[in-house]
Amino acid sequence: MKGSLRNLLNLASAELEAWVAGAGFEKYRGRQIFQWLYKKSATDFDSMSDLPQDLRDALKAAFYFHLPKVVEAKPSADGTLKFLFELEDGERIEAVVISDEDRRENTLCLSTQVGCRYGCGFCYTGTMSFKRNLSSGEMLGQYFAARARLAKRAELHRLVFMGMGEPLDNFEELKKTLGIITSRQGLDFSSKRITVSTAGVIPYLDETWGLGVHLAVSINAADPAQRTRLMPINKKYPVEEVVKALKKLDRSGRQKLTAEYVLLKGFNDSIEDAHRLARLLSGLDLMVNLIRFNAFPGCAFEPSEEKRALSFQDRLKSAGFMVFIRKSKGQDILAACGQLRGSRP
Ligand code: SF4
Repeated sequence: MKGSLRNLLNLASAELEAWVAGAGFEKYRGRQIFQWLYKKSATDFDSMSDLPQDLRDALKAAFYFHLPKVVEAKPSADGTLKFLFELEDGERIEAVVISDEDRRENTLCLSTQVGCRYGCGFCYTGTMSFKRNLSSGEMLGQYFAARARLAKRAELHRLVFMGMGEPLDNFEELKKTLGIITSRQGLDFSSKRITVSTAGVIPYLDETWGLGVHLAVSINAADPAQRTRLMPINKKYPVEEVVKALKKLDRSGRQKLTAEYVLLKGFNDSIEDAHRLARLLSGLDLMVNLIRFNAFPGCAFEPSEEKRALSFQDRLKSAGFMVFIRKSKGQDILAACGQLRGSRP
């Protein structure tokens, strides 16, 4: 907000139509404005050449455009690019572009909150206190600002909501953002190219799944006490209840469900841990992503040794799961999974 002005990127198509009608113009003009924003990448009202001048004037009197300021765009040796963004109120967040050279694809990892309430022990964001939710305009702003910095003609092919914050704790803004990203008149991005990650916020699992995106659920320990030590959210949403909720999802479509498991040396990486995980997940059709822990300043954990990670993977495979050990990217610039914090330590 700038005084009474609003960031235009915070409005869904229906909201724009309602505003346009309320201002005394034909409703369809709202869709036109939406298309200018998302199809033609307009960033000022004067370039919206097919709108009448009085509508452009009314827009100028009510709205403005705002993209987050790029404080830093730091490249990693492996091609990962980490952005440090500053928001209008001075808060800072991070987003990461990960390039897959084999598939020739770029994935943008977006943040949904400034800080996080949950304090997971393996996550740098968890060492910050929760400051606030991001608006949909601030989530979309990360997309536009990152895209503008990519080399000429490079595109963003996949989006993962796995940056700072718990996306399902900011569900209404997440839903609005996904609506704009996937709508035909918006960015027209296939929901099959979007993954939302969650620590297991049970009340929103079903509704998020209903948006057609892939879901990645952070499990990280099958034993309840062990998980509570690592992920305090387990007290509120116990892992057994999370699994029960996942079993109820409608699996008739082609959406992927993934269990994420960060392997921590001597904490959750034994064969017994793998057995417990296999038992917990039995009956669920999902893929398991094993993640090598990415250390950050002041963290108490160390990554598992490769041999142990492979034994863990074998145990799960023999229980019938499809299991991958996820390659980490951007570790040298603290851009890998769990390493985002939005400010320098
Ligand atoms: S892993 Fe997710 S839920 Fe846990 S502290 Fe980090 S951002 Fe929050």
